Amino acid sequence: FEAKRRGSDSAVFTPELEQQRTNRLALMIDLRRAIEQKALMLYCQPKIDLATRRIRGAEGLVRWQHPAHGMIPAEEFVKIAETSGLITPLTYHVLEAAFQQIYAWHDMGIDQPLSVNLSARDLRDPALIDKLKNLFSTWGTRPDWIQFELTESALMEDPVGALDAIRRIKALGVELFIDDFGIGYSSLSYLHKLPVDAIKIDQSFVMAMPDSAISAAIVQSTIELGHRLDLEVVAEGVETESAWNHLVALGCDTAQGFYMARPMPAEQFRNWQVHYESSLH
Ligand code: C2E
Ligand code: MG
Ligand code: MG
Ligand code: MG
Repeated sequence: FEAKRRGSDSAVFTPELEQQRTNRLALMIDLRRAIEQKALMLYCQPKIDLATRRIRGAEGLVRWQHPAHGMIPAEEFVKIAETSGLITPLTYHVLEAAFQQIYAWHDMGIDQPLSVNLSARDLRDPALIDKLKNLFSTWGTRPDWIQFELTESALMEDPVGALDAIRRIKALGVELFIDDFGIGYSSLSYLHKLPVDAIKIDQSFVMAMPDSAISAAIVQSTIELGHRLDLEVVAEGVETESAWNHLVALGCDTAQGFYMARPMPAEQFRNWQVHYESSLH
C-alpha cells in the first residue's frame, strides 16, 4: 500500500487494482477450502506417438470447478497457489489423485505412464521426496508408471537449486520432461547438464507454425537439438491435421493437442482409449 500513502497523484494505486487484489484474496480462500475438501479434479490428456499413432502416455491436469464462478483456468489458480503457500497442499492432492488413477489403470491392464506437473515451489519443498516415496509404497507404483513435468521457466528461477532437486527426483527412477521449452531462456550448456528424458516444445511455436517461418524453424531446430541430446521430443498444442503432418515430416516423436483429444476427466480416459484404439485398425 506504498502507493496509497504517497497520495492521490500516484498512478500506481487504482480502484481496479484494489478490486483485483480483493478478488484474488477471495479466490485464495475458496481455493484453500477446495483443496481441503479434495474438490479439485484430475483431468488427463493423451500423448500420441507421431510415427505409430499409438498412445504413449497421458498428462495429468488439475481442474477446479468453482461453486459460483465455474471452471477457473488452471494457470490462474496455480499462480494463486504458488504465491499464497497453497501450492504444496495442491501438489500433494494432485499427486494422491494421480497415484490412485495410475493404480486403477494398471489394475485394468493399461500400462501407459501418467505425467504430473510440478511447480518451481515444489522443487524447494524438502518433504517432496518423502511424500513421493510414501505414495510409491502405498500404491505399489513402478517408477516407469509416473513421470514429472517441470517448466523451463521454473528451472531457471533457481538453476542450481533446481538441478539438485531434480537429481533427487530422478533418483526415484522416474522420467522427467522439460515443459514449455523454448520460452524459458535456458542455455544449451545448462540443458545438457540436466538429467531429463524429454522436452515439450511450447505450444506457442507449434500453433504458429503455419503462419510463421520463424516458429517453424524453431520447432525444427528444437526437434534436432533434442534428438542430438538423446531426448524424446513432444510437441504441445497440436490443433490441426496440418500441424500433425508437419510434425511427422520433421521427425518429432510425440504430439499432444486438441486435434487428437482435449483433456478429459481421468475416469473417462479408459473409454476414450478403447474407442481411439479401435479406430486405429
Ligand atoms: P502445461 O503443463 O503446459 O499443460 C498444457 C496446457 O495446454 C493445458 O492447459 C492443456 O489443456 C492445454 N492444451 C493441450 N492441448 C492444447 C491445444 O491443442 N490447444 C490449446 N489451446 N491448449 C492445449 P491447462 O490444463 O489449462 O493448464 C495450464 C497450465 O497450468 C499447465 O500448462 C501447467 O503449467 C499448469 N498446470 C495444470 N495442472 C497442473 C498441476 O496439477 N500442477 C501444477 N503445478 N501446474 C499445473
Ligand atoms: Mg505440462
Ligand atoms: Mg506446456
Ligand atoms: Mg503452459
